[in-house]
Formats: sequence, structure tokens, C-alpha cells
Amino acid sequence: AESTGRAEWNGTGVTADGYRVKVLGNVGTPEDAKAAAASGAEGVGLFRTEFSYLSATEEPTVAEQRAGYAAVLAPFAGKPVVVRTLDAGADKPLSFLNPEPEPNPALGVRGLRVAFDRPEVLDRQLAAIAEAATDTGAQVSVMAPMVATAAEADWFVKRARAAGIARAGVMIEIPAAALTAREVFEVVDFVSLGTNDLAQYVFAADRQVGAVAALNDPWQPALLRLVALVGEAATAAGKPAGVCGEAAADPDLACVLAGLGVSSLSMNAAALTGVGAKLAKVKYDQCQLAARGALAAANPKAAKLAARAAL
Ligand code: PEP
Ligand code: MG
Repeated sequence: AESTGRAEWNGTGVTADGYRVKVLGNVGTPEDAKAAAASGAEGVGLFRTEFSYLSATEEPTVAEQRAGYAAVLAPFAGKPVVVRTLDAGADKPLSFLNPEPEPNPALGVRGLRVAFDRPEVLDRQLAAIAEAATDTGAQVSVMAPMVATAAEADWFVKRARAAGIARAGVMIEIPAAALTAREVFEVVDFVSLGTNDLAQYVFAADRQVGAVAALNDPWQPALLRLVALVGEAATAAGKPAGVCGEAAADPDLACVLAGLGVSSLSMNAAALTGVGAKLAKVKYDQCQLAARGALAAANPKAAKLAARAAL
């Protein structure tokens, strides 16, 4: 192709020496899904289902959910799509699931925790997802948000399997889940690191409060060390760990994450080409070197410089 002067990418996530790292889209609406597909996403690493229901006052019916999910899955027939079950609460309350105000909503009943008291809501969503998968031919897997323990992961995976969904995993966005990743991998097919919440919880720094934003920097070595634990557990288990937080959208950091053992990166459509093009320019041992440098750094700035020197 003729050079446009802009970063170019052929739509397959792979390093210059052939190491595969899937480059996927984060989506919430049919428009997002079309934009991700048009920008070359190999699939979807995070479909945020709660986005459709932020103003709903009642639980959507299974038929409504089925149609809504199918509209998002449609551009990805034959491709992998990870559908996240409702992440209600904290910054995204749903009035039919989170009616009571909480003193610390980020630490309260959000994500999968909502389902422990109301499993029938989860089961109806899983049924709608399974139907939408059949309707569209997308290779659908499901994952649960805000999972703290392997026992919670096991509870979710069993419900997903009962709904006829073959592939089920969980997000790792609570430090406890990262620290026990080996046990989590015993019960799931895959994990996806939610670095936005993982940073919030590891630094005890609210992601919505600008005054503590410097702590929520995804280049923080403490966050990267948790990612490294999960990457090592993934390698030991022979199962994939992805990243679907904002960290995956930074091309240099994407290389660091790959070097830490992450095998897929999911991001907004606008970031796909930049990340895909950067991966295509580097060798995997440079990613590993960048990862080692960033892990050992004293602060985010030093981590970034160390990574850049290797890349
Ligand atoms: C995350 O926490 O990193 C994530 C991807 O999920 P959300 O931003 O929807 O909480
Ligand atoms: Mg999250």
C-alpha cells in the first residue's frame, strides 16, 4: 500500500518476528461495533452491556436484550466477541439493579456482586446473550465484572455453562483476583485485566476524582507488577489473559503488556491502528525487555522511559 505518512496496520496483531497479540475493540453500542470493525479490530475484547441500560427504569426483557446484543455482535460474525455481563453500580448505576445509595459505591454492591442476590437477572441476561450469539454467528464468550475470588469466578462460570455458553471468563480488576490468578485460572477459560479499576483499587484512588489521577496512571510499576503476576499465571495455566482497560490503548504500554504475558489487547476504535502498527515494528524480545525495565522502575515516568529505550 502507498504510504500515507500515518501509522499503518494490516489488521492482524503480530510483532515483527511473528508473536501474536490479538488487537480487539472495546464497544458499547452498534455504532462502536461498526467503528471497531471498520478500524480492523480482530474481534471484541469488551462489550460493555450496561451502557445500553443506563436510563432504563425496568429490567429489559430477554427479547429486548437479545435484539440489542445482536445489533452489536452483527459486524463480528465468525469473530470472537467477549460480552461482559452487567457491570451495574459505582460510576454506572442502573436504577433497576442499584436502587439504594451507598456510602462508597465503588466498594459496594457492583458488577457480579449484584447478581449474588438476584441470580435470575444474570440468568436472563446469559440466555439473551446465547440467543444473540446464535442469531449473528459471532463467536461469543462471556465474562463477569468485579470478581474478587476464585469461588465467585466458579459460581459465574457454572451459570454461563448452564446457559449453554461454552467459553466463560472473568475480569481481573480487583487486586485480590490478581493475587490469586492461579486459582482463578483453575475455574475459568480466560481472564481480562480491567486496568482502570485495578489501578483504582490498588492505589485506593477513585477513578472519578481528578486530584488523585496521577496515582491512577497505568504506567505505575505497582500496577504493572500485578499484571505480571496474572501474565505468569496465564502462561502456567496455558490460558489467555487479555487487557481491556485504557492501558491497552497506549502503543508503548501495549508492548509492555505483551511482554508481561498478555495475549490480547482491547481498546477503543481510535487506538487500534496505532497499537497494531507499533506491535508490527517491534520484536517480542524488545517487548520483554521493555516489560522488565518498566517493572523495575521507581515511578511511571521512569517506567515509560525504560520501555521506550527498549522499543
Ligand atoms: C476496567 O475497569 O479497566 C474496565 C475495562 O472496565 P470499566 O472501565 O467498564 O470499569
Ligand atoms: Mg472495570
